[in-house]
Amino acid sequence: MKKIILLILDGLGDRPLDSLGGKTPLQAARKKNLNALSSMGMVGLLDPISPGIRPGSDTAHLSLLGYDPFKVYTGRGPFEALGLGMELKPGDIAFRGNFATVDDQMRVIDRRAGRIESGTDELAKSLNMEIDGVEIMVKEGVEHRAGVVFRGEGLSPDVTDVDPHEEGRRVLESKPIKPEAKRTAEIVNKFIVKSYEILDNHPVNMKRRKEGKKPANIIMLRGAGIVPEIENFNKKYNLKGACIVGVPLLSGLCRLAGMDVLKVPGVTGTVNTNMENKIRYAIDALRDYDFILINIKATDVAGHDGNGNLKKEIIERIDGAVAPLLENLDRVTLMVTGDHSTPCSVKDHTGDPLPVMVVTEGIRRDGIDQFDEISAARGSLRIRGSDVMNILMNYSERAEKFGA
Ligand code: ZN
Ligand code: ZN
Repeated sequence: MKKIILLILDGLGDRPLDSLGGKTPLQAARKKNLNALSSMGMVGLLDPISPGIRPGSDTAHLSLLGYDPFKVYTGRGPFEALGLGMELKPGDIAFRGNFATVDDQMRVIDRRAGRIESGTDELAKSLNMEIDGVEIMVKEGVEHRAGVVFRGEGLSPDVTDVDPHEEGRRVLESKPIKPEAKRTAEIVNKFIVKSYEILDNHPVNMKRRKEGKKPANIIMLRGAGIVPEIENFNKKYNLKGACIVGVPLLSGLCRLAGMDVLKVPGVTGTVNTNMENKIRYAIDALRDYDFILINIKATDVAGHDGNGNLKKEIIERIDGAVAPLLENLDRVTLMVTGDHSTPCSVKDHTGDPLPVMVVTEGIRRDGIDQFDEISAARGSLRIRGSDVMNILMNYSERAEKFGA
């Protein structure tokens, strides 16, 4: 049996760019190690979910790890809360929250509380409470955003939003969409009133008023979702898995799947992340683990910025970092791909397929010695995210036979 490394270069796929002479960043990059790896294995194109679907990083990673995102993904609430670093348990109800400004009649004056930039950590902390036996946890996000989690017995995500989505209107009462959600809706409504009572007189808001700023004197909830019960990854594949990822959304997702999250110095989830450390740690961690997922976010960041030159440079840095993998192919089955395309010309995720390679000693070689979107189309693979774990299990001699 071999060990497995799944290296995800986030948002890797791209489209031709005029600034790169009509090449994609991957085509334009100098990348001798990635090319050498691809020449030693099988190459092709991968649709993270299915052709044309534009995935988020969360749904794509679920799919790559062998989970059906259409079944497991329960909305943005839980996954955004994971992204804020909140510890969630299956059955928790997570909401997307935003701090807003209301008058004493609960009419919304500003849905974003004047784009509040500081103090939301203190405001969030003041809202952790218990109502009718339900534990409520609040964690601040970027600007006016926050995650809100309800933990307790008999909760349901089937409640309406309290955010009227319009200024001048009163904060709505949450209503149950299904009868079993009655209690949850009542707790939401109690929590909203409490949040006003606590926040309206909070020192952070006293100070804001003095400075002529709008107080963040209520928190509004929307997008309720239940934290899904995800089949344990280690049990599902009978191996011991870990991840090395910089962004909380993905480390939260891996933790939810029962994988260990390895802390690596210098890993930031930004373009300055220490890629060399990630790869070296992954190889070291193979002593204790059978499967390591590595995510490098920097390629996606450059794609969102629309910066083709930066994306090319990042790919070149990654190419340097992957060199040690070349010496481990006798004991490692390696897959290199992305979780979706983030073309610099679009600055967002698209449904374009991604180049993928699977490499290990003894595998067939399909003679593709350039790792990029265009060359990959001549390779032998045309797969979906849901095929990834099966392929990795097969080439690491871990797959169970289907039939006699
Ligand atoms: Zn992504
Ligand atoms: Zn992205």
